[in-house]
Formats: sequence, C-alpha cells, structure tokens
Amino acid sequence: MTCIDPRRVSQAARAFVCDDCAAEYPLHRPITLCPDCGGLLEVRYDLGLIAPGLPGRAREGRGMWRWRELLPLPLDVAPVSLGEGDTPLLELSMPGGASLLVKNDGLMPTGSFKDRGFALAVSFAAALGVDSGFTYSSGNAAGSFGAYCARAGIAATVFVEDLASELKIAAAAMAGADVRLLRFDSSAEIFASLDALAREGRYSFVNFLNPVRHEAMKVYAYELCEALGWRAPDVVIHPVGTGGGLWGCWKGFLELRALGLIDRLPRMVGVQPAACAPIVEAMAAGRAACITVGDPAATIAQSIATDTMPYGGRRVLRALRDSGGRAYAVPEQGIEDAMRALGRAGISAEPSGAVAYAAAAAGLREGWIAPDETAVAVVTGTGLKQPAALISAAPAPGGRLEAADVGAWRRVLDGAGRDAAECMR
Ligand SMILES: *Cc1c(COP(=O)(O)O)cnc(C)c1O
Ligand SMILES: [Zn+2]
Repeated sequence: MTCIDPRRVSQAARAFVCDDCAAEYPLHRPITLCPDCGGLLEVRYDLGLIAPGLPGRAREGRGMWRWRELLPLPLDVAPVSLGEGDTPLLELSMPGGASLLVKNDGLMPTGSFKDRGFALAVSFAAALGVDSGFTYSSGNAAGSFGAYCARAGIAATVFVEDLASELKIAAAAMAGADVRLLRFDSSAEIFASLDALAREGRYSFVNFLNPVRHEAMKVYAYELCEALGWRAPDVVIHPVGTGGGLWGCWKGFLELRALGLIDRLPRMVGVQPAACAPIVEAMAAGRAACITVGDPAATIAQSIATDTMPYGGRRVLRALRDSGGRAYAVPEQGIEDAMRALGRAGISAEPSGAVAYAAAAAGLREGWIAPDETAVAVVTGTGLKQPAALISAAPAPGGRLEAADVGAWRRVLDGAGRDAAECMR
C-alpha cells in the first residue's frame, strides 16, 4: 500500500541520536541502546526536507502510512500493514456542559493502540532483514507484535506478564508467536532483564529500547491536528505504562510546530492507576526520574500496572513538564466508573484505556481544563480484550423471562419509554 508517491518527497529521517551523549548512528543499523554510552536513542529528522504542502499530500489514502514522510521507514519499502490508524475521534458531552473528544484506538486491528508502534517497528526490522524478534508485553503488545510478525514472516517470541487476561495471551498464540508468561513481584525485575539483554546487543521490540516503535505514536498528533483544522488540542490525555504512547504523541506535536503546521502545543496529561503511579509520585515530589512505588497486582488497569518506569520515565516527565501538563492517578472505583461512562457513550474500553476519561472528567471538575478548551482523551484499548473486567464493571442484566410469554416482553417494553410506534401517533 503506497499512499504517497515516493518520488514526490524525500526521506527526512537522518539518524539515531543518543539522548545522553548525542552520538549519531545510521538508521540502517539494528541497534537499541546507544552502543557508546547505553543511553536511549531517538530518530532525528531534517524537517527542512519535507516539501511544503504536507497536509494536502496526507489527505490522499487512509491510515497511518499517509504520514510516512515523517516516519523513519524508507519510502521505497512497502509497510507491513493490517489497516492501522485513522481511528474515530468522537465528541462526548461531559457533566457541566463541556465536551470531550475521545480518540478510540480500541478499534485498531488487534484492539489496542499497540498496532501503531508494531506496524512501524516490524516494517522497519523486516526492511533490515531481521527474521526473528522478541518483546515484553503487559498483554496487548503480545497479540499486536504476534500479528505484525506473522504478516512479515518474522518469528516472534513474546514474554507476557502472567497477570494479562487469557484472551490477550491467546491472541498472541493464535498469531503463531512463542508465548512465555512472566511471573514477577515488581516491574523493576522485568526492566532489569530487558536492559541486560539489550546490553548484550539483542535487538528487542520493547518501547524505548526499540528506538523506532514510539515514532509511530507521533501519528496521533498528525491525525488530531488534521481533524481540528491544523490546530493543536489544548489538552491531550494519555494512559501511561512505559510512556511510549505519550512520548511519541508529544514528539509528533513538536515536529508539527517545527514544520510550522501548528503554532502552539497541547498540555500533556499522563494517567496511571492510583495503586501504582510512579509518574504521579515523581511529579508531586519534583523528581527528574521515578522511583519504584505501588503494587502492579493491585489494579484492574493491568496494561498500565507498572511500579517502575523504564529508564526512570525521564522522557515522560520531560513531556509533562515541558508542556505544562500534569500526571493524574485514578482510584480503582474511578476506573470502573469511567468504563461505564464510556460504555454509555458507545465506546468499549479496557480499564487501562478508560483512565484517560477519568482524568479528563477530573480535570474539568477541578477547573484545570476550562469548559471551552479542546481536550482529547485517548482510549488505548477495547474492553473486549479484558472480558472479566468488562463483565465485572457492567450493570447486571435486568433478569430472565420466558421466551413464550409475550406478556412478559410487553411489560418490559411498556416501562422502556417512547418507542417508534408511539412517535408515529
Ligand atoms: C500498553 C498499553 C498502555 C500503555 O502504553 P505505553 O506506551 O507503554 O505507555 C495503555 N493502554 C493500553 C490498553 C495498553 O495496551
Ligand atoms: Zn550515548
């Protein structure tokens, strides 16, 4: 699928650059951490190479690859795609008369926003000739990575938290991945092992260790600004696990401003469950890096249940502070309330996706978000992939009746308000 004629544009992605020592490496090297100092790598662009008229070119086609001029995949490489991106942006009425925009990434090919990152990271690796790879997963990454690897012909190994729902684990196995379950007490154990593997030079697909995956999350910024007529939202609210989603999205806004396509940046809000909220703790305490706090087993928001941020969560903290944003912790009851509120708006969200709604409602209630501001909450995953949480949050059904007893049907319907037949009278 090519949405943009590659002959009309040039490749703006230039190099991997180290966050810590600023060393540069060519993009065709399959590296994770900086080979010199072990710092995190970031893709650097020469935005001056982007020809004027990007919004017009991007209107052609559908999905994430409309923006490939701003992604590091070489333009002559066909992406590994399952139809990701261009998810609905829905307006919801909030208590107090304000409205909220909800970006529903539960409608991605495998039911979570992970598909953006893996579509790009797997395409990139396949182009480099990688034929096997691994990732760690809190649940949704497993099925997403499995699906994109299956499509690319890459042998996938996924190490999934054993707290993940059976359905998420099964989704990865269905895609043919080698699935292993991780038992752990603290997320610190997971990130220490991942860091050790990276230092041995193993190429992984884990957020931030893989310097390409979060680049795809920039497309949030592109889709949102396009939908708003090339204006940035005032506030963007994102659930935070590793922070790849929030950081990538922020990077996208920075690029759009550098390109002159928007003139100001949104305030970024990171949301975590109160049971384990290291970002919230670090913001409150004024830390430059997070410490380990909380209990990942104590929340239903299993996809963002981390007591430890990889590499101290420095990038996430930077995005929140530089943008004038905040971090917000949602208690367990608030997560279920948010799932129900979204459900009544027609949106199925897993607990980790629903927390953004809860943070938006709180921001409006507290006046931190003004009623006339444009706020976007990202729903990162569908409720259907964590059925036990959905069933437990849902109101109980109204009871059984005998199918043959039409009178019982009538009594239910007579209590249900005006129906179409009454409207005709
Ligand atoms: C993975 C995941 C998150 C957290 O994403 P990060 O990029 O790790 O911060 C949030 N919500 C859902 C549904 C997820 O699957
Ligand atoms: Zn370095």
